Amino acid sequence: MSEDKPLHVRVAEALGCSPRFDGVVWCCTCRAGEHVGSEQYNTLSTSELNYYDTDWSATGPLIEKYQIGFYPAGLGTWAAEWRDGRYENGIGDSYSKAEDTPLLAVCNLILALKEAGKL
Ligand SMILES: [Zn+2]
Repeated sequence: MSEDKPLHVRVAEALGCSPRFDGVVWCCTCRAGEHVGSEQYNTLSTSELNYYDTDWSATGPLIEKYQIGFYPAGLGTWAAEWRDGRYENGIGDSYSKAEDTPLLAVCNLILALKEAGKL
């Protein structure tokens, strides 16, 4: 994954999309509006990627699916957190990210989880 791609594109890639830039916006060939993991590719239609970094309706299902928690972390920052299902009494994996908005924190957490092989 390249750092020069917009955050929502990197999130889509983490979810299994293969986005491409059509000259104006980033698109994917999976079904319209569905860039949430298990994809059914339909090469007949291309749709613009969801803006996961600003669109609650796009990112809400990801928060639910991956059971991501988020909370105000003070000084204008929000933290997003994910805990392994086995997490108990501090034993097990947990990941967190802090950013300016809840969705930015969630998006960066999703990238971290992908990197860690936890998605
Ligand atoms: Zn896609």
